[in-house]
Amino acid sequence: MEYNEAQKLKEEWDNRQCDHPGFEKVYYKGAFLLNYVCTICGAEFTIGQKMEIEEIRKKKGS
Ligand SMILES: [Zn+2]
Repeated sequence: MEYNEAQKLKEEWDNRQCDHPGFEKVYYKGAFLLNYVCTICGAEFTIGQKMEIEEIRKKKGS
């Protein structure tokens, strides 16, 4: 997802509750940044944070 697009999502989502069901790598002008963004709310995550969320989700078995 383009960085600008993520920012727009974030604005439109307006800090509502989100379970962050999916992540996408974020890039800017064709170059990948290190972060991931939630495809629903546009929140930014580091690779470590993303892995942590996925790990918790796995343990819950959902
Ligand atoms: Zn989210």
